Amino acid sequence: LMSADGVASPTIFAEMSALAARSGAINLGQGFPDEDGPAEVLEAARQAISDGMNQYPPGRGHPDLLEAVAEHRARFDGVALDPGTEIIATAGATEGLAAALLALIDSPEDEIVVFEPYYDAYAALVALAGARLVTVPLRWPDFQPDLDELAAAVGDRTRVILVNDPHNPTGTVFTREVLQHVVALAERHDAIIVTDEVYEHLVLEGERTVVQTLPGARERTIAISSAGKTFATTGWKIGWATGPADLIDAAMTVKQYLTYVNGGPFQPAIAAGLRLPDSFFHGIADTLRRKRDLLGEGLAAAGFAVSTPAGSYFTVADAAPLGARDADDFCRELPDRAGVVAVPLTAFVTDARRPDYATLVRFAACKREDVIRDAGGRLAAMI
Ligand code: PMP
Ligand code: GLN
Repeated sequence: LMSADGVASPTIFAEMSALAARSGAINLGQGFPDEDGPAEVLEAARQAISDGMNQYPPGRGHPDLLEAVAEHRARFDGVALDPGTEIIATAGATEGLAAALLALIDSPEDEIVVFEPYYDAYAALVALAGARLVTVPLRWPDFQPDLDELAAAVGDRTRVILVNDPHNPTGTVFTREVLQHVVALAERHDAIIVTDEVYEHLVLEGERTVVQTLPGARERTIAISSAGKTFATTGWKIGWATGPADLIDAAMTVKQYLTYVNGGPFQPAIAAGLRLPDSFFHGIADTLRRKRDLLGEGLAAAGFAVSTPAGSYFTVADAAPLGARDADDFCRELPDRAGVVAVPLTAFVTDARRPDYATLVRFAACKREDVIRDAGGRLAAMI
């Protein structure tokens, strides 16, 4: 596994968070919030524990969570789902992705197409599933794919097109046109689409396109999500996968042998979160937009060239104007030079494409405003 392209041990996030803890630097590396989410959700978990919901939940998920996911996806995404057959609860989005990919891959010739840079787990999961990783580059500064390069990457060996939208690490939200192309290519080559929608409520510019609502997509798409980002509960690891019953059954077959079940009392707590009013979900995007702007201003003032992400927790900045030649070295020195931790984009790419991302750095904006302001000041004063 560790010899697979783009797979590191320990993960870049573990390494950078350890570096932050050791050096006392501000951690803008790993994407997790530094404040608690809604009190109702935290209280619902305490209540579930008090109510004795501490044994194995049902295999497909707590019925209340499955119902809440169905309601939520109908309310925000216009996708109608049968909670009995078309939804399963998973141990975070990570297990949903693992279960889907392990279920869908039959042969070492099978290919999984991903957009590059990609969330680091993708390369590892493709290797675990025993498939081939095929990548489509996203280029600075808008990080939308070239449609010809996308078409060239998909062929008769393609089993899965894996789409992360909004996108980690670039902050891109794919255009409707790009996603329509994904669906058309999947139909033409009889591939399955797996969407990673963990940042679904963190769209900061424009609107996202829900892949499952595009013509032809519903019957061949598994959509994967997580409560971690939406409710600031990344440690609870509650996620879900939705899609047609046959694909969800296939993922369920794998999930039952990965973890069997997970997060008993947290499942009903997240159900309560999913039922919060629209204003909560708009509020988290508004809050993050302010943080993104603050972070962007701080980075620009420190001399970086900065992209403006349309979604996700993340902002990509180019350290070349500061004289950086290699973002890997730059990020390793950053805690000493500035007291800030960030992640090089090269951690999210295949070896062959490292030069294209050589000076790009990812900063997480999901931190308190005073922390972001402090980080901006430190970067401006960098030695
Ligand atoms: N996909 C993406 C794109 C992510 O950024 C993350 C985040 N941490 C995950 C999946 C994993 O989500 P979870 O913690 O719910 O497994
Ligand atoms: N998704 C978060 C990030 O990209 C953290 C994931 C992790 O620590 N594995 O920073």
